[in-house]
Parts: sequence; C-alpha cells; structure tokens
Amino acid sequence: MENQWHATTIDNVESALHTNQTTGLETKEANRRLHENGRNELPERKKDSELKKFILHFNDVLIYVLLAAALITALLGHYIDTSVILLVTIINAFIGYIQESQAEKALTGIKAMLSLSANVRRNGERLEMEAAEVVVGDVVVLSAGDKVPADIRLIEAHNLRVEESALTGESTAVDKQTDVLDTDTVLNDRTNMVFSGTSVAAGSGVGIVTATGPATELGKINEAMAAVEYTQTPLLRQIAAFGKTIALFVVGIAVVMFLFGYLFRGFAAGELLLSVIALAVAAIPEGLPAILSIILAVGVKRMARRNAIIRSLPSVETLGSVSVICSDKTGTLTKNEMTVTTVETTTGSYSVTGTGYAPEGEIVPNAETGNEASPVLERFLACVQTCNDASLRQDDDGQWTIDGDPTDGCFLTLVRKTTLDLPRYTVVSKIPFDSEYKYMAVLAETNGKRVLFVKGAPDQIFAMAEQNSDVPFDRVHWEKQMSARANSGERVLAAGYKEMPAQADSIGHHDLAKGVTFLGLAGIVDPPREEAIAAVQACKKAGIQVKMITGDHGDTAKAIGKQLGIGDGAKALTGKELDQMSDEELDEAATNTHIFARTSPENKLRLVKSLQKQGHICAMTGDGVNDAAALKRADIGVAMGIKGTEVTKDAAKMVLADDNFQTIVHAVEEGRRVYDNVKKTILFILPTNGAGGILIVASIFLGMSMPLTPVQILWVNMVVAITVSLGLAFEQLERGAMQRPPRDPKAKLLSPYYLFRITAVSAMIGIGTLWMNHFMQTRGYEGSTLQTIILQMFVMAQLFYMFNCRSELDFAFNRSFFQNKVAFAVAFLLLLLQLALTYIPFMNTVFQTTPLTVGQWAIPILMGLFVFTVVEIEKRITKTLSQNSR
Ligand code: ATP
Repeated sequence: MENQWHATTIDNVESALHTNQTTGLETKEANRRLHENGRNELPERKKDSELKKFILHFNDVLIYVLLAAALITALLGHYIDTSVILLVTIINAFIGYIQESQAEKALTGIKAMLSLSANVRRNGERLEMEAAEVVVGDVVVLSAGDKVPADIRLIEAHNLRVEESALTGESTAVDKQTDVLDTDTVLNDRTNMVFSGTSVAAGSGVGIVTATGPATELGKINEAMAAVEYTQTPLLRQIAAFGKTIALFVVGIAVVMFLFGYLFRGFAAGELLLSVIALAVAAIPEGLPAILSIILAVGVKRMARRNAIIRSLPSVETLGSVSVICSDKTGTLTKNEMTVTTVETTTGSYSVTGTGYAPEGEIVPNAETGNEASPVLERFLACVQTCNDASLRQDDDGQWTIDGDPTDGCFLTLVRKTTLDLPRYTVVSKIPFDSEYKYMAVLAETNGKRVLFVKGAPDQIFAMAEQNSDVPFDRVHWEKQMSARANSGERVLAAGYKEMPAQADSIGHHDLAKGVTFLGLAGIVDPPREEAIAAVQACKKAGIQVKMITGDHGDTAKAIGKQLGIGDGAKALTGKELDQMSDEELDEAATNTHIFARTSPENKLRLVKSLQKQGHICAMTGDGVNDAAALKRADIGVAMGIKGTEVTKDAAKMVLADDNFQTIVHAVEEGRRVYDNVKKTILFILPTNGAGGILIVASIFLGMSMPLTPVQILWVNMVVAITVSLGLAFEQLERGAMQRPPRDPKAKLLSPYYLFRITAVSAMIGIGTLWMNHFMQTRGYEGSTLQTIILQMFVMAQLFYMFNCRSELDFAFNRSFFQNKVAFAVAFLLLLLQLALTYIPFMNTVFQTTPLTVGQWAIPILMGLFVFTVVEIEKRITKTLSQNSR
C-alpha cells in the first residue's frame, strides 16, 4: 500500500498503520516504532573530512610565502631555520583549523536548539514534541505556520492551504482536503496528503503519518535543509579585503627592499631574501580574519546562553547597530499568562476569581445579575469552550498547563470554573484563528442541532452582530463596555453564535456575514513582564526606540504600553489608519508614533520599510505565518521560539528561546560588545604588524644588521597569534556601551583616530626597539643576548599594549580590569612561552636565544611600561578632547 495512501480511505489507512485517529498511538508503541524505524530525520549532507579541513588551511598566501622561505633556507643550508619554518606552517594551519572548528561547533550547538517541533495526539492527549520523534501512525495536528513534520494522509482539513515549493517548486499554496483520490494521481495533485518539509500557509488539519525521515518524499530527493548558515559577514569580508590590500602593499615593499638592499647596501642575496620574507611574515595581519570569526562565534554562543539564538552570523554585527526595535505585545512584552477576570453577557455581569490556568475559582454574578444560571452565560461558555484549539492538562507535578494558544487556554480554565452543566458539542467544521481576520469559528453539533460559534476581536464580532436584523445590537453600549476593560490594559474578546441548518456540514467566512447573535465579552488579564519595563528603559538610554506593533486593540495596547514606558498612553495608530496613509504620511507616523494596534502583516512590512528608508536599523518580532515577509525585510527579523510558527523561525535571523523582549535587548547589548571587541582587536593587532614592518624596513634602509632573525620574527608572530590576540575576544561589555547611541552602520571601521593610534603605536614599538638595538650595541651588547632582549622588548610591548586596548578610551585600570579572565590567562601563557624561549637550552639553539639575567629583563619590561603609559596618556587626552568637542 506504500505510496498509495492518497488512494486509500481514512479508515483503511488507520487500520493499515495500526493507529487510532482520535486518540493516536500509545507511547509504548510509538517508542517501539521509533526504535525500529529510526528518528524522523534526513541523513546529514556529507561534510568535508577533518583531514581535508586541516589540509585546506595550507591553501593560503601566507603559507605559500612560508613554504618558499623554507625552500630558500634549505637551499642556503640553514636547516634549523627550514625545520622551524615548516613547523610554523603546520602550527599556523592547526591554529586556523582549531579556530574554524570552534566557530563551527558554536553554530552546530545552535542548530540543535532550533529543532523542529510537532503537535501530536498520543494516548488521547495533544502533545508538543520534537518532530524527529514522530513515527509512522502518529496523528499529527497541523495549524497555520507549522512545518509539516512528515508525510501525512489528512483525516481533517479546515480551510487548509499548504505551501509546497520546497518539494514541487510551486510557490502558490495548495488547497487540501480529505477525499480519496485516484491511484495514478501525481504528487503535485495529491491534495489529501501533506508532505514533510512543506509548510501550512493557512487553516488547520489533522492527519496520520505515513512516512518519516528518508522514506518521505523530501527524503527521496534528499534536500536536507540547513538550519544555520555559516556565511561571511560584511565585516569579515571588509577585513579580508583590507588584509589582502595590506599583503599586496607589503609584498611590493619587500621587492623594493630586496632590490634596494642588494644594489645599494650590498647585502648578500640569501640573507636579504630571508629578511624580506621575514618582513612579509611580520607585516601581513594573517591571523586577523580567523580571530574575528572567533569573536563572532563567541558572541553567537554567549547570545545563545542568554536565550537569543542567532541563525546567521552577520546578524551578530548588525545587532550592535540596531536603532529601533518593533515588538509585538502578547507574550513578548506581556507574560502570555492569560486569565479571564470578567464576563459581560447580554443578560448579566460576572467577575471571575482565581489566576493562572489552574481551574480554581468561581464565576461570581454581580448583585444585579443575581445567580449564575443563565442560558446566555451557558451559551457563551459553550461557545468559548467549543470554539477552541487548545487543551488544558495537569502535569505530573500537579501544575496546570495548556497546549496551544494561551488565549484559547484561558477560556478552558474559565469553563472549568462554572457550576453550570454545559452541553457537549462536537465540531463538524471550523475556521481556525488567524491574525489576519482576528476570529475563530466552528460549526458544532449537539443533539442533532447544528450551531455556528464564533469568538474573536470585539470589533469583528460587533460588525457581525450589527448585520443581524432579527436581534437588535447596541454597538455604542458595547464599545463602552469594551473600552472600559481595554483602558485598564485588559485584552477583550467577544463571542457570538448562529443557528445553522441541520444539513450544514462546512462553514466559510460568508456564513458570518449575516445572522450572528452577540453573546458577550470577556476581559482577560495578561500582565506586562516586569523585566520588559527595565529593558525598555535600557533601550531608551542606549538611543534605541521601542515600538509596539500589536494585533490587539488600541486601548489595550496604549494602557500596556504606558505601564511599560512605551508611548505616552494617549497616542496609538490602528492598522486601518495606516492603510489610508500615503508613504510620506506613513514615514511621519512611523517616526513619531510608538504604539500601532490592530495591525496586519502588511502594516508591519510597510512600517519596516519606512523606518529603514529613514536610515534606521530595524529589529522586528513576529509570530504568525504571515509575518515572514516583514521579518525577512527587517535588518534583524526576530521569531518567537515558543509561540512562533516554524515558518517565522525560518524567515528570522534570530529566534528568542524565551519569547522575551528583554532577550532582544540582551542580544543588542551583546552585539555592541562584539563590535567593540572587533574594533579593539584590530586596534591591537595592526600595530604588531606595523612595528614588525618598520623594524625590518628601517634596518634594511639604514644598512643596519637585522635586529631579529626571520625565525625569531616568526616566533613572535606565532606566540602573539595564539595568546594575546585572543584576549580581547572575551572582553566584557564596556561601561557606558549601552548609554551611547547606536553605531552608524555606514561609519568606517578604521576611523581617523584609529589610523592615528595604529600608526603611532607601530612607530613607537618599531622605532623604540630599533633605537634600543642601536643604543645597546654602543653599550657593548651583541649577538644572541642583544637579540633576546630585543625580542622580549617586542613581545612585552605587545603584552602591555593589549591591556591598553581592553578599553577604548577609559583608563585601563578601571572597575572591569579583572573581569576578563581570558586576558590574564593568555598573558600568563605568553610569559610561560617567553620564559621557555629564554631558558630552555633546546629553544636557545633553535631560536638563537640566550638566558637573560634578572637585570636584563628590566629593559623589555620598561619598554612595555613605556608603551602602556604613553597610550594611556594619549587615551586620556583624546577622551577629554572628544568630550569637549561634543
Ligand atoms: P500581538 O500582535 O501583540 O501578539 P495579539 O495576540 O493580540 O497581539 P493577534 O494574535 O494578531 O495579536 O490577535 C489579534 C486579535 O485577535 C486579538 O487582539 C484578539 O482579539 C483576537 N484573538 C487572538 N487570539 C484569538 C483566538 N485564539 N481566538 C479568537 N480570537 C483571538
């Protein structure tokens, strides 16, 4: 029967797969099937082997230069040099390999956090579980925005539309139904089946899994979808290009140097060749791109630890420059823990006691209403119970939780609080909730009678009730009732019903156009998250605007906004008002308004575009399937990890594991930290190369003997690359980083001040060591002792300078001095390596170094202190100047 499920009746599918369409599989049986058939996953696409990855790191201009140097030294008979250089190439490739796999590891960890989930009926209960654990025979519940987890034969379809482009290439959504089809129906036309990897565009449905993992249609074409892309970020690209320019420049200089030294200074060709190679090695910032990707990867990891899952590496950078965050309200700014507190029907008023989902409390009629026994209340409760997609259950530890939408969930709790005996309805057909039309409706049956129940945004239900000429509806009165609740921040939902003919077996939106009778309103409390209040404040200090873009009513949005510090509590624009605005008017509104209510996905898209046009870098949250376009467009599309649909997660650049607004702000903070550390690292590394370059170029020009041998220069580069260069990647957020306005995304990484600092420090270290070399020669120092001291000077200067770079303009010994443990660890490691170089006899032979006396260490340490002090004074002056010019 395999592959013929579309041509099989539902009952036959059910019995062939030994399942039960209403209760689903038993856990034990499901586990057995999982064990037998494997997880519902596609095999990973083949990756490069570790060896190949390692070898690829030899494919690098720097390595070619080093290999050429090794060859030349071998030809010249300097075999020790040859082996050192070869060793260095291996170490270098190894460092690159380790760094790459670290970055990769960080991203793979995150991929695991984004695992797909599915709603499945098991043991008669609806559960949300990992899609990878779905087995053949499972009964899966689908709703708009879900990714279809497996191949499924539908047993229910309510206005279900599925987007199948992943499989068929066809981008228009396909209508689905449950009838049996002909055996020879081609894949594209199997409308009673849905396939793994496709996504639900609208409606809802239920179906039995017929194939999982590699057995699915998607598995057959083996189109595994990667969750996280490892892309080059604009910043990395900029740095790589910059590095190439420097490399070309350095090679140019090296050629000139060689000719100059050979023709005018009479150096021997062999020695000169080694020196210019040393120059190339010293002056090219070859380690920079690798270190920057480590910084980004560390950033991604830290963000994940704070619940922000980054799906694309460039976003880490972009986050630092975010200037406006557009957030929805429900669940992000509020707790999404809904409790119905009041019910107002056409015949009575009730307050509801108890909070949370635990069905503990009562529906208490007010004095005028008298008692609870009321046919309208009964119908109202039956409506919100039947017109409901959630389920309420008690955990093993006694906690009451809901599966599904909290708005639906709180009604289930409400219904459990009544003393009335509600009739049982069975649902025949339904229009699932969609934020586009903002209501949900079902066709339900009890005792042979069919009735349509609808619940949703009051404005929608009021409009329906007004069309019913048989039952008068006082809209003004009910608007007042609604506003009274909304103004105090309550979420208000309305309910209505309509008698339907007994033969009616499906419903569409047109059924709601006439004949709906209004039943009443419910006021729902969904308190703001306390931490969101602080997060909004933090944004204000950081020059980031916060805008609330919600599907909820304007009055509710304004009131909640006021409690959170967004907007003034008086001004809000609705989606309808935005629809009527010209682009210019919208630009003005987007800038000056902070609360947007009853918005549609199109409104969101237009607002993002408008904000971006005005130069903003925009983060935008979304959860519904239709939000995908706005999320894609935003600079940082943010999807909700808990409440969000799989489709929005796919479109987003960042997923919030906790759906919390504060997490976005944390991510922005982390983004700023990352960018600062990138800048600090560049500020640190480039002078190292500059100084090395100056040292060699100047000595050739001046006809001096080379202060350091090429192998010693290689050593310096290597130890610096594996130690202090990494120190700044772990620097904490600088004090005041969230008190300054967002970075201008167009601003150049290397500002004039940075260029000045890089040149000045290069000159200081380069010329300083050169001069010291000369000075000590006149004092009788020579040979390996001199070289060892010069080498240590060079390294000490870098070590101390790293501590300068830890804060941009703040004094180095500030409150965060001891916070970055890695900086101290790498400094310690560097010292150990330097001691090894100086005191281990083997190292003395290989690197031509000599053990130094304690007194001789004074010179390198003084050099370090000198650089440190000068840079600190310079920072102080620059800080004062920049403060004065503000
Ligand atoms: P936000 O956009 O901030 O998440 P929201 O949840 O109010 O807020 P939507 O999900 O677009 O936004 O809902 C819009 C409106 O539709 C709500 O204000 C409510 O009146 C109504 N609504 C929400 N959920 C349901 C539901 N499950 N059934 C019926 N109506 C609903």
